[in-house]
Amino acid sequence: MHETVPFFRPDIRDDEIDEVVSVLRSGWLTTGAVAERFEVAFAEAVRARYAIAVNSCTAALHLAVNALGLRPGQGVLVPTMTFASTAEVVRYEGGVPVLVDCDPETGQIDLHAAERLLTGEDTCHGVFSSFAGIMPVHVGGQMLDISAVRALADEWRLWVVEDAAHAFPAARRNHAHDPWRRCGEGTGDVTCFSFYANKTITTGEGGMAVTDTPGLAERMRRMSLHGLSRNAWLRYTERGSWDYDIMAPGFKYNLTDIAAAIGVHQLARAEEMRRERERIAMRYCAAFHDLDEIGLPSAPANCLHAWHLFPILLRLERLMIDRQGFIDELKQRGVTPSVHWRPLHMHAYYQRVLGYRPEDCPAAEARFWRLVSLPIFSAMTEADIDHVIWSIHDIVDRNRRIMTRRSTHTRELT
Ligand SMILES: *Cc1c(COP(=O)(O)O)cnc(C)c1O
Repeated sequence: MHETVPFFRPDIRDDEIDEVVSVLRSGWLTTGAVAERFEVAFAEAVRARYAIAVNSCTAALHLAVNALGLRPGQGVLVPTMTFASTAEVVRYEGGVPVLVDCDPETGQIDLHAAERLLTGEDTCHGVFSSFAGIMPVHVGGQMLDISAVRALADEWRLWVVEDAAHAFPAARRNHAHDPWRRCGEGTGDVTCFSFYANKTITTGEGGMAVTDTPGLAERMRRMSLHGLSRNAWLRYTERGSWDYDIMAPGFKYNLTDIAAAIGVHQLARAEEMRRERERIAMRYCAAFHDLDEIGLPSAPANCLHAWHLFPILLRLERLMIDRQGFIDELKQRGVTPSVHWRPLHMHAYYQRVLGYRPEDCPAAEARFWRLVSLPIFSAMTEADIDHVIWSIHDIVDRNRRIMTRRSTHTRELT
């Protein structure tokens, strides 16, 4: 019996458990003092003025595009290399996600491709009257160059909503003498984080919208709880009054104190857990460095990387198995991998409703067939890490395509 390594195991300690128990005993379970504590601490951690705790990152993204006034028929630039949420919230408001191809090396949104869509040099699918915004994703936890996104957005008068579901804690500086800028710090109009069960910090389910703009903060907070003028915490405590006014038809997106109780302690250990993931990433990089059959994620010195994911790129021309075969081999050795992601333009809905075809975003399509995400989480044991490293070497050794000069030549031509 060899050991098994799950894709993710949450790093929950006694502090989280004790705080949840104390909330359960307190008599106040829904959004209240603990959620407020979590918001204040999170805003401070990313150096944002306002933070609104909600029950998912998807909710945060939806509140953001709603608060920014997205109107039906408007286009929003969304990377095709992302999870369902980033584009679906645009659909919630009747907008049209215009899918943008990725950089072949990093998988991040390709801003040149975005610009070609804005100028009309590239025709896009779907009918919309104007572009309203852009929603970059910090794929895997490596912060993209948000000042470049901002420059493009300013030129075209677009708002910026960052999908930072992978990017806490993360930071970047474009030059060695610049100060570090944290993900969520004075960048997009709104930055949205996820505390889903397998994210870098978790509340089971949860999310946070941060912004420096008071009007956006106020609108998101109100819409997160039915559009009411006053939340339950303000109504039912001694500070409050029973009455409220419905200002707009809102949503039910508030985070419970039970979930926030997990969050405050995860937040306190976020950098410690990040360092542990970074250590695992560096061990993988050192262990796979000499394998010509796989490409490794980059770890530039100007990024403080959240390392939510460790995606490898298979060099299929050097292997006798395809990506599914590689995944099957990993599973046979007890290692559970994942794929981030099948690009949105290769999903039924976007093909049927917006007319996308696989070849519309060629870099993302090519990348997709070669992607495998390896387990990386702070609760990994040394034995887990060793077993993943051994498994990858064993699979590559047994499935290596012996390159002849002729096949090398052919590969270079294609
Ligand atoms: C996980 C994820 C989301 C959604 O987060 P939830 O908190 O589950 O709603 C959004 N975007 C990306 C890129 C994600 O990975």
